[in-house]
Amino acid sequence: MSEATPLASLTTMRVGGPPRALLTATTPEEVVEAVASVDRAGEPLLVLGGGSNLLVADEGFAGTVVQVATRGITVESADACGGVVVRVAAGEVWDDVVARAVVEGWSGIEALSGIPGSTGATPVQNVGAYGQEVAQTVMHVRVWDRTEARLRTLFNADCEFTYRHSLLKESMRVAGQVTPRYVVLDVTFQLHPTELSQPIGYADLARGLGVEPGARVPLPEAREAVLEQRRRRGMVLDEADHDTWSCGSFFTNPILPREQYAELVARAAARLGATGPVPPKFPGGDGMVKTSAAWLIDKAGFAKGHGLPGPAALSTKHTLALTNRGSARAADLVALAREVRAGVREAFGVTLVNEPVLVGLSL
Ligand SMILES: Cc1cc2nc3c(=O)[nH]c(=O)nc-3n(C[C@H](O)[C@H](O)[C@H](O)COP(=O)(O)OP(=O)(O)OC[C@H]3O[C@@H](n4cnc5c(N)ncnc54)[C@H](O)[C@@H]3O)c2cc1C
Repeated sequence: MSEATPLASLTTMRVGGPPRALLTATTPEEVVEAVASVDRAGEPLLVLGGGSNLLVADEGFAGTVVQVATRGITVESADACGGVVVRVAAGEVWDDVVARAVVEGWSGIEALSGIPGSTGATPVQNVGAYGQEVAQTVMHVRVWDRTEARLRTLFNADCEFTYRHSLLKESMRVAGQVTPRYVVLDVTFQLHPTELSQPIGYADLARGLGVEPGARVPLPEAREAVLEQRRRRGMVLDEADHDTWSCGSFFTNPILPREQYAELVARAAARLGATGPVPPKFPGGDGMVKTSAAWLIDKAGFAKGHGLPGPAALSTKHTLALTNRGSARAADLVALAREVRAGVREAFGVTLVNEPVLVGLSL
């Protein structure tokens, strides 16, 4: 056990003070024991994977961090009917799992290449990119239920996956905690046994591949094209590139009732001219409209690199990423996030919602 490791050294945003205690668990039994003992003691708990979706206060965390460092990828079954059923330990690095799937000819997660962090965190916010999300391939999730103090299996439908959300994430909001009620021990995916990608569902990606949307390409080509797109946007971790000292996208894309989207269009016309650009519009489910947070930020007047030279600034490659230029503190990032959120609200009447989990902080 160590008491002083600052969370800055365990998170991709590279800010945050030390926790009261840090435990590293390398087996599912150790994860359960560590989590259960912290909960029994009534201590605040932060379960940590790769630290790529966390913004931690400069004061640190007044509780215990349990770092999940379990390993293991097991093929449970593989046949033409049921597909390839693969169980992955929560602590496995997600991109290693995707790379293995591409090599093995397991299709269904190739568009999620290059996303940092652990496999156990992927169901928490239903990780997604380039037209795929884990909700499409998660079969079930084995969890430790902290409330009932027992092991459980949550099937896909139990997880209540929606855009960047799930039962697990919701359980944090309900309890006002930074760790879900359900601590993930392993995730079982059902993948397609084929050398071809799933249909390319993202226009830019299709263009990069030189194919029509909906086409299928060899898995390695799909992975390379995704990584190429991500690198251009500063969305692949690179120690030398401050544009990647981030949590990825800092705000989720707003999902608005139709009337609010119409109001947004009117405000955009008033601000940008009647023949000016129109806010992007995607289906948001249940008659809702999803629009683009990056578009709103840009059109509210925050260009790429806003805030440079720092210490905190928007990425020079993508307006949606808040980045640490080297010496930022959590307070600098929170100030920037508030500025952007207030600017977008004033310009368009839309309140952006943060995607990363805030530890000891609020916007
Ligand atoms: C450069 C960059 C690009 C990114 N791109 C994307 C993207 O394209 N799409 C996307 O969806 N996300 C993206 N992200 C966000 C992030 O990578 C994902 O959310 C990732 O799944 C977080 O995993 P992690 O292990 O780092 O979680 P952490 O940051 O360690 O934890 C995040 C939350 O999950 C909880 N958690 C972690 N492990 C477990 C577990 N085993 N059981 C229960 N709860 C757990 C934590 O308690 C915390 O509440 C990006 C981040 C960065 C830095």
